[in-house]
Amino acid sequence: MIDHSRRTFLKTSTVAAAGFTLFRSLAREEVFCADAPSGASAKIVPFPLTSVRLAPGIFKEQSEINARYLDSLSVDRLLHSFRVTAGISSSATPYKGWEDPTCELRGHFAGGHFLSAVALASATSGNDVLKRKGDELVSGLALCQKKNASGYLSAYPTDLFEHLVQGIPVWAPFYTYHKIMAGLLDIYVLAGNSDALQIAEGMARWVGDYFTGISAEQRQRMLRTEYGGMNEVLVNLAALAKKNRYIEIAHLFEQPGFLDPLAERRDELQGLHANTHVPKIIGAARMYEVTGDRRYRQIAEYFLEEVLTARNYVIGNTSLDEHWKTPPGQLKGTLGWTNAECCVAYNLMKLERLVFGWAADARWMDEYERSLFNCRLGTQNADGMKQYFFPLAAGYWRAYHSPEESFWCCTGTGVEEFAKFTDTIFFHKGGEVFVNQFIASTLDWKEEGLLIDQVTQFPSEQGTTLKIKTSRPIARTIHVRIPVWTTDAVQVNINGRALEAVADPGSYLAMRRVWQDGDTVSISLPMELRQEALPGDESVAAVVYGPLVLAADLGPGPADGPSKMIHSGETVPKNLPVADQLPKVSVASGIGPDQWVQTLSKSELRFKVDGESAKYELMPMFQIRDQRYAVYWQTGNPNKRS
Ligand SMILES: [Zn+2]
Repeated sequence: MIDHSRRTFLKTSTVAAAGFTLFRSLAREEVFCADAPSGASAKIVPFPLTSVRLAPGIFKEQSEINARYLDSLSVDRLLHSFRVTAGISSSATPYKGWEDPTCELRGHFAGGHFLSAVALASATSGNDVLKRKGDELVSGLALCQKKNASGYLSAYPTDLFEHLVQGIPVWAPFYTYHKIMAGLLDIYVLAGNSDALQIAEGMARWVGDYFTGISAEQRQRMLRTEYGGMNEVLVNLAALAKKNRYIEIAHLFEQPGFLDPLAERRDELQGLHANTHVPKIIGAARMYEVTGDRRYRQIAEYFLEEVLTARNYVIGNTSLDEHWKTPPGQLKGTLGWTNAECCVAYNLMKLERLVFGWAADARWMDEYERSLFNCRLGTQNADGMKQYFFPLAAGYWRAYHSPEESFWCCTGTGVEEFAKFTDTIFFHKGGEVFVNQFIASTLDWKEEGLLIDQVTQFPSEQGTTLKIKTSRPIARTIHVRIPVWTTDAVQVNINGRALEAVADPGSYLAMRRVWQDGDTVSISLPMELRQEALPGDESVAAVVYGPLVLAADLGPGPADGPSKMIHSGETVPKNLPVADQLPKVSVASGIGPDQWVQTLSKSELRFKVDGESAKYELMPMFQIRDQRYAVYWQTGNPNKRS
């Protein structure tokens, strides 16, 4: 989340009115994952969240920790600033940090991320306690909106939006407005709260009125201030309410100065704030899905490809000090504490699963897996607290927010992420099933009378097993991702018999047959060591095992105290020491990690490196808890040491 004193300024030009088509009749949840544009062939879409359940394993454990944190929060306290703003008395103790009654972002979590998270938790795990909390919050918000009369709903007065009009510095009023609208749509779609849709429509009407009388030039100046996914949420609302008016309002949030270079495949991202801009591309992706305008698709595909190849770190996330600070492909010298804001990973993954739906390209699910295992899993502690930055310089550690005094943007996207691990495991295209992620879970496709148990301890286990349950023989194609990191030794057995041919790594294996009850598909996914250089610096590399980034354990870090737990809205611990030098290994170029990394245990995922001046134990980054760690290594020619 960018601080208002460090806003990014973009080139501006006038917005072009784009045409759009009528909405197809879709189920609520389908609208969100978006059907194909009108007239196109069937799209690959996720199953409804209620059809997939996590089975015991690391993901279920993490989602339960997250749910307990959500349940610890009080609806009255969350509503406090909304009520005060609407002139309704509140005796509740407000939360602090970015929810403090003086913070210009208040309401982003309280009325936004929290609603999304409880809606997700309710749909993915049947958590009725959280659903009731969400409904209670919606009722409270409805009263506040009614009191405001104009459709406006926020935890701060409209003054902050006036500041935007007048060019007075202000943090990000529309960013917060987006979170609230998104939370309302989530609880409508995922938990059936139809009042929430009405409230969101009122909010959208207020936005339309707000821009009346504001010139295109002035509007473009105002859009230099971070506005989250306003375009996305308005497109989603248009599709759900089947009202084109909201598409027109969504177009008001487009910035040709940002989108045009991307449409022409030019990377002009240097200097931009990462988490301000990824949501704009998610909005463009949704605009393609709803209107069918392929220019938006080209923008989204180019942007995603460029960020992932030229600007990403090995963990599957991007940015330094929240920005893209270098030319493409040049990340040399960018390792620090303030790498890879967690929200950015959340948003990139959201974009990846949308783009995946257009052509089922395995690449996007490989990238999704990389982020999921390396920079989402592991960023929550045992109490449900989340990280903000993801330090990538050597010698740093994970730091978390406190339960009631921080409420960062990354707290918000974190509680959503950890409530929705089931949303990308299985997709379908008509009657065909896609198994995208290897997570212990059950798909219960009631309409088709088909149940698939995915039984796995992945990544401790190098593979997964699908057990089919069906009341009758059923002809279906099941596609399984053969990840790009596996080897040619991958094997697939159906009922114990090996398939003669298996798809190449980095693609999907299609298995078409008449499935019988009790059929079992076992897929071995051998992992091997490889190294990935830091873009722009061949001498700096990370070690990866299968999908897992390995980190060197550098000894105990702060287990408690202000360096570990941040009791405020600050996002970096105070008095941070200078980072260590990267650990050094003496290897000549062209020498693979199997020559310098020793595997101690495949099931425990433990490795060892004899460095130049020390020996290191390595483990998957997601298993690093309180230790100081190093992800990158300084490699060098052993005959030519510096
Ligand atoms: Zn954030």
